Amino acid sequence: MTNHTAPEELNPFEIAKQQFDLAAEYLKLEDSMRDVLRHAKRQLIVSIPVKMDSGHVEVFEGYRVQHNIARGPAKGGIRYHPQVTLDEVKALASWMTWKCATVGIPYGGGKGGVVCDPKSLSIGELERLTRRYAFEIAPIIGPDRDIPAPDVYTNEQTMAWIMDTISMVRGHTELAVVTGKPLSLGGSYGRAEATARGGLYVAREACRVKGVDLKGARVAIHGFGNAGSNFAKLATGDGARIIAICDSRCGVYAENGINVEAALRHKDETGSLLGFANAEEIPCEQVLETECDILVPSALENSITLKNVERVKTKIIVELANGPTTPGADLALADRGIFLLPDILANAGGVTVSYYEWVQNQYSFFWTEKQVNDSLEQTMRTAFRSVHEKSGLHNTDMRTGAYILAVERVAEATRMRGIFP
Ligand code: GLU
Repeated sequence: MTNHTAPEELNPFEIAKQQFDLAAEYLKLEDSMRDVLRHAKRQLIVSIPVKMDSGHVEVFEGYRVQHNIARGPAKGGIRYHPQVTLDEVKALASWMTWKCATVGIPYGGGKGGVVCDPKSLSIGELERLTRRYAFEIAPIIGPDRDIPAPDVYTNEQTMAWIMDTISMVRGHTELAVVTGKPLSLGGSYGRAEATARGGLYVAREACRVKGVDLKGARVAIHGFGNAGSNFAKLATGDGARIIAICDSRCGVYAENGINVEAALRHKDETGSLLGFANAEEIPCEQVLETECDILVPSALENSITLKNVERVKTKIIVELANGPTTPGADLALADRGIFLLPDILANAGGVTVSYYEWVQNQYSFFWTEKQVNDSLEQTMRTAFRSVHEKSGLHNTDMRTGAYILAVERVAEATRMRGIFP
């Protein structure tokens, strides 16, 4: 039973281990295997001296963690955020391991982060920071080793700088060293919206299971970055009504539906949703408590916790963010019959199209947007079915079902490879 009085664990790596342990228990995994899979294979901490525009040098701290490579090279994004910690990056790296296994793409899990406030850096400072960070992690990344991609506050420009830096160091163009690149530089059609599109594909499946009609469904989206804003656009295309959204500054609410294109234009022009017309301004956290059919946490970790879970009023949750729900909140949601699509399934569309990009780079042969989206749809629907089946088989929720599926796959690969030497 959920303990509502004890202070809740909010360290993402501790949470990631709890989620893993639960699946390991279901699978009756041997202790030595649990030990192996709970640990990150490699953690690199780097100092990044950057010449600032003012002339002085500031030193930033960066990380790259490779959690597991049993099923293939490490894969995962790079995050720029003032609150990045090594434990957070370790958690995110392990979630990548389980995510890639859930959708069955041949990667392990990795993640990177730099402690910085990207909003206060000039474009020149961002470029110098990115290039030096890329140089510092160069020894452990590469198309066959560890392939970074965008995450919170990094984008295709960041990836282009990393690709160029690694290419300069190695003396040849290394397209497949990162994914999420611009189309002009070996990027893939469909990668930019892939996280949201993958989320929509599994949301459609969840609607079928729960008997919710996506057409006319009321959707609340917490976080209006790449994943959240693209989900808003795509879900509108399915006839859903986006009634609440927020970015890091403020939230907006409109019972009759928010004009998503107009909200995006406003954010592009002014930098935030603050002052967006034709909608009521609300506090960001209120988006999570909006009565709706589908709630889409698409910001950061620990958004739905024991503090607010009782006020969450939705039928379906689509976790486009990584780690937005704590284990305590998970139990409370399951008790109330709320159908939650876990991050390692719901947001796996991003890394899935990253995989397609990496494949296209290695073959120097590029797919059409339709090929990308059709393949993504197939992958996401198959993954949904497998997770739903597992959760049914073990009479548990979708997160635990996904973990059981993923941990089983990684454990099997580890067993077959054996422990070196
Ligand atoms: N950062 C994204 C994620 O958390 C994408 C990772 C990738 O494409 O490698 O899944």
